[in-house]
Amino acid sequence: MVNIVIFGPPGAGKGTQSQLIIDKYKLMHLSTGDILRGEMASETALGLEAKKLIEKGELVPDDIVIKMVRSKIENNLDKKGFIFDGFPRTTRQAEVLDKLLEENNTSISVMISLEVEEEELVKRLLKRAEEEGRADDSIEVIRNRIKVYNEVTSRVCNYYEKTNRYKPIDGTGTIEEIFGRICNVLDEHI
Ligand code: UDP
Ligand code: MG
Repeated sequence: MVNIVIFGPPGAGKGTQSQLIIDKYKLMHLSTGDILRGEMASETALGLEAKKLIEKGELVPDDIVIKMVRSKIENNLDKKGFIFDGFPRTTRQAEVLDKLLEENNTSISVMISLEVEEEELVKRLLKRAEEEGRADDSIEVIRNRIKVYNEVTSRVCNYYEKTNRYKPIDGTGTIEEIFGRICNVLDEHI
């Protein structure tokens, strides 16, 4: 298997670029945000619990997301590999992900970190709010999501840097330009 992480602040383009990566490299998309939104839509116990946090822009606890990721991995070991989108968001999640993959004789090859500055992120998320109407794309919640990213999630970069898997990429320009930069990195690994 070849597994990669796509990383970056809210609005960096992780979901958009994931779709292009899946089509070209035939990886399986594992977006914890999408799974959580599915649980919210079905109004499961997990979804109702997550909703309270997501609406405030807070993180869902490690143990909950780790459990979701574990079952997704274990049910898809026949696939070519995974692209983890929106996970890991804490250093503990990153450590556990390495362990989970190691138990299945595989690993993360590279972590692509999309770099976009804050004003551009806010602009993109407000535009998405108009188009998709996601409840957590209001200006107050956007600001908190970026704060949580800066204070907690951004540290995940250090974890991957220490093990030489961190690849920062300029996340500005056209979708195709950014995808080209990502492919240059992925072609060394896939
Ligand atoms: N979220 C979380 N853990 C995850 C994925 C999502 O806590 O592993 C929550 C968090 O509140 C986040 C929201 O779900 O703000 C939306 O996440 P998603 O990754 O979809 O948003 P993005 O960062 O791509 O805008
Ligand atoms: Mg996303």
